[in-house]
Amino acid sequence: MHVPFVDLKLQYSNLQPRIDQAIHSVIQETAFISGKYARQFEEEFAEYLGVKHIISCANGTDSLELLLKAMGVGPGDEVIVPANSWISTSECVTTVGAQVVFVDSKPDTYTIDTSMVESKVTSRTKAIIPVHLYGCPADMDEIMAIASRHKLWVIEDCAQAHGAIYKGKTIGTIGHASSFSFYPGKNLGAYGDAGAMATNDDDIATKVRMMANHGRLGKHDHGIEGRNSRLDGLQAAILSTKLPYLNEWTKARIRHAETYSNFLASSGLKLPFTPAHCKHVYHLYVVQVDNREQVQALLKENGIETGIHYPIALPLLQAYSYLNHTTSEFPVAAGQMNKLLSLPMFAELTTAQIEYVCTHLVKAIA
Ligand SMILES: *Cc1c(COP(=O)(O)O)cnc(C)c1O
Repeated sequence: MHVPFVDLKLQYSNLQPRIDQAIHSVIQETAFISGKYARQFEEEFAEYLGVKHIISCANGTDSLELLLKAMGVGPGDEVIVPANSWISTSECVTTVGAQVVFVDSKPDTYTIDTSMVESKVTSRTKAIIPVHLYGCPADMDEIMAIASRHKLWVIEDCAQAHGAIYKGKTIGTIGHASSFSFYPGKNLGAYGDAGAMATNDDDIATKVRMMANHGRLGKHDHGIEGRNSRLDGLQAAILSTKLPYLNEWTKARIRHAETYSNFLASSGLKLPFTPAHCKHVYHLYVVQVDNREQVQALLKENGIETGIHYPIALPLLQAYSYLNHTTSEFPVAAGQMNKLLSLPMFAELTTAQIEYVCTHLVKAIA
């Protein structure tokens, strides 16, 4: 049996007439950049999240960077980010000229360890970027409390958590602003790069909308120098076509995660954990194995694709060697990075496939 890590082709074949129609319309109407389809998707996604403003942009990395800039974060400032994430979370801090400050992960949920955040706050700290990693909500009550005590901005990195819920609140509506990626493999994915910012703050919304489109006030009128980070019409139309299926896909992911957890309950593996009152949307189903290379190879021999998210904790990447961090400063993230293993996860997975993965995984760890 072949079990891919994700199967975007299968999702496409299930939706093909609708997607093809959407693409055709954009081309027919030559609504290629921003324009009607981008506005429509923004409205639909704002309604989906229950947020006042959605501002679309070119990708999820730009959205983080644009938000930091709109909040006035720049040289001389520090921004707190988790040690385990995709590099965009820390990269955006450096690209606006600020200093990145890493905080270790929690052992159970892999999200930022909020008990260690406050010790990293200095007079220069301007923002915290919690990541709802793998689709699991970060501890937002604690983060918002720390932020309010120290007057910090909070940008939620929701790239892996479309539709996740924290204590009754939709992820992306809790911080001052939030960032979404629609990279093809994300829970809601375009057919190219795409991103969006969400906020209830009118001032931030106005700023990022201008900044993402050359500082534009009106045609040939530029209030500031901005940049080009716009959503293209094809991606917007594809996202609008897919959005109505997101809840159904999320339910399927949660069902698959439960199936995995049931099959693996007595395996002795460390399984994903969902905090109380939260909805984890399982962008990834991550377990920990000791002999990872061997396990991955055995699974591969049996047609099962797996991933690692992420093999090197951010502070230990060569890109951050200038900070001279050591593994002992991030005992949890550094300990986990050699064990993390992401199992196949996408809405169209079958129970037979999950059972097959679990059978071979249990064999491989024996
Ligand atoms: C995918 C991702 C991003 C960046 O999104 P792009 O659209 O690829 O730029 C940012 N943060 C996290 C946690 C991600 O997984």
